[in-house]
Amino acid sequence: MSQASLLSSPIEYLKGVGPLRADMLKKELDLYTFGDLLQHFPHRHIDKTLVLDINAIQPDHDFVQVRGVLQGLGTIGEKRARRMVGQLRDNTGAIELAWFQGISWVQKNLVEGQQYLVFGRVSFFNGRAQIVHPEIEPYIPQIIAQKSALEPVYSSTEKLKARGLNGKQIGKLTQALFTQISEKDLPENLPAHLLKDRMNRWEAFRQVHFPSSPEKYKQALQRLIFEELFIAQLRLALIKIERHKNSKGHLFSKVGDYFNNFYNLHLPFELTGAQKRVIKEIRQDAAKGYQMNRLLQGDVGSGKTMIALLAMLIAADNGFQSCLMAPTEILAQQHYASLNELLLEMPIEVALLTGSTKIKERRRILQGLLDDTIHFVVGTHAIIEDTVQFKNLGLAVIDEQHRFGVAQRAKLWKKSSIPPHVLVMTATPIPRTLAMTAYGDLDYSVMDELPPGRQPIKTVHRFETARASVMDFVKTEIEKGRQAYYVYPLIEESEKMSFENLMEGYEQVKSFFPEPKYKISMVHGRMPNDLKEMNMQRFKSGETQILVGTTVIEVGVNVPNASVMVIESSEKFGLSQLHQLRGRVGRGMEQSYCVLLSSVKASREAKDRLKIMCSTNDGFVIAEKDLEIRGPGDIDGTRQSGALNFKLASIINDREALEEAKKQATLICEKDPTLNLPEHAVIKAYLQSQKSKIGWGKIA
Ligand code: ADP
Ligand code: MG
Repeated sequence: MSQASLLSSPIEYLKGVGPLRADMLKKELDLYTFGDLLQHFPHRHIDKTLVLDINAIQPDHDFVQVRGVLQGLGTIGEKRARRMVGQLRDNTGAIELAWFQGISWVQKNLVEGQQYLVFGRVSFFNGRAQIVHPEIEPYIPQIIAQKSALEPVYSSTEKLKARGLNGKQIGKLTQALFTQISEKDLPENLPAHLLKDRMNRWEAFRQVHFPSSPEKYKQALQRLIFEELFIAQLRLALIKIERHKNSKGHLFSKVGDYFNNFYNLHLPFELTGAQKRVIKEIRQDAAKGYQMNRLLQGDVGSGKTMIALLAMLIAADNGFQSCLMAPTEILAQQHYASLNELLLEMPIEVALLTGSTKIKERRRILQGLLDDTIHFVVGTHAIIEDTVQFKNLGLAVIDEQHRFGVAQRAKLWKKSSIPPHVLVMTATPIPRTLAMTAYGDLDYSVMDELPPGRQPIKTVHRFETARASVMDFVKTEIEKGRQAYYVYPLIEESEKMSFENLMEGYEQVKSFFPEPKYKISMVHGRMPNDLKEMNMQRFKSGETQILVGTTVIEVGVNVPNASVMVIESSEKFGLSQLHQLRGRVGRGMEQSYCVLLSSVKASREAKDRLKIMCSTNDGFVIAEKDLEIRGPGDIDGTRQSGALNFKLASIINDREALEEAKKQATLICEKDPTLNLPEHAVIKAYLQSQKSKIGWGKIA
């Protein structure tokens, strides 16, 4: 058998498996081949040289091994509840053993009065320790010496256990596997220079299953984790190289008068270091001849709009038009107003195109886009309608990405034969490690710095019982001329309920802030758009002091005079959503506040979340915590990605290894993008073997 084919041998060919067990292994654990079993790693190891005194067993012990004399063996209970019980007694105490299945085996094989060595998971039942379905074998003094200090523990499933394939049996199969394969079946796949301080591949696989010492186990694990991350990073880097090679894009070869005049004469502030870096990344990207597809992550308030504008000016310098799309009419208007203000003295024509643009104006804009008298168009979905045609669209900026679907973005492609460069801006930070794995094949920029002089928002957590004093505090802020947001959660599954809650809340806020002294706007998702816009506008202009709303106010709205946000039932929100909401305050010169109200009965986890919110304003830190709490599958704004299905590596625990893997993969790709150098032959061979191997067993 050739080396590649041995690991791809169907699992039924392994000694001790056979067709029936093979079927179960496939269904239950997705183990189709020898190679799959090899990668069914033990989740931990246990020390079988250790024998505990029975009276030393504590409730927090998980698995224990004890030795003693078996007594009082007998069945109790009737029919389905029938079980076999017995006691194991040493000279310190006794523990109960119980069997619900395999009773006849017990009756045939176990003898009262004999010494046994017993291993299993302890549980406490009515304050008494017991082991259900223990591993049990006659005790002879030499037996301990034959045990391993690091016996692997494999996961199994209830169904497999019922068919005699528990974790221990799976360990036996793995042992059998290692008698059939040899070093040549697991050829090295890391180039020599990465092996200096690392265990080789064969050794690592053996040691991770059956370690000869804790140190060896650690080294083996580290080697395999690195390998997993390195191969993933290499794949992403190669995909990116391939995409750049194949996607022709407009060439923004120069930075000209539009950019330079604006930068030197009209820029109202010094750019932050992060802004400078990102605009440079964009400039370099767009000058390379391939289509830029860049994701820009910047925390709320980091100044993404300025990046959009500067990129659009570079497009204009190269004779191209740009569009800037926002998810709501309010945001589009806001962008339009700020671009107009910034470009007041520049010979640049900006238009606003939304669903409510009047027919005559719309006609003028469509014509202007066709004959290139309009350079920038800002708008909503209205921009991607088929009737909107550009003379030469070079750049599309999409703000607050998560509200735009992929299909909508694809529509932009069709607007010119060479697709425009795309810059997607999102204010939902995701942790760097997650971005590296989930977006590693995209062009990707981060703005992790806020403009100077911002006062951090003060955030506190209060129970609902303290609502009245919170309202009093809000009152004092309003007396000072500030404005306030009141946010209620809108839970999709029970929208009706929360709608009623919102109305109740509105009445409650009204009773605290009676008209005509106070004026209140309300917005929610069920409101017709124009009414919603009108209410927002009244708040924006300062006509109303309080805005009561659901999370529709979440995205991008800029009312610098609003300095307080009260979030009701804040325990019902996720961390990143709370962070987005809170980003609506703290946008002006004044000290801002965020009050998180929750029920006293909120879960412990929810209270921990609120604690995190009170301790930091940094979206990236919050995203890291969110990742720790929820795991990588659930984070907002991430796409499903095979890159996240690691067998051993964890993007939460193995950050350093990930950074190192990325660094090494990037170095190799820069030097040798085709992997044709002799020292990279091992990687190339490995990647190719992975490609051809895909799921033979699964197809059969
Ligand atoms: P976001 O990244 O949330 O979209 P904005 O682009 O709305 O942030 O910017 C937030 C505020 O910060 C705006 O008022 C903007 O004018 C201001 N701003 C942006 N960049 C800077 C800077 N470098 N220095 C000072 N203020 C800045
Ligand atoms: Mg913004």
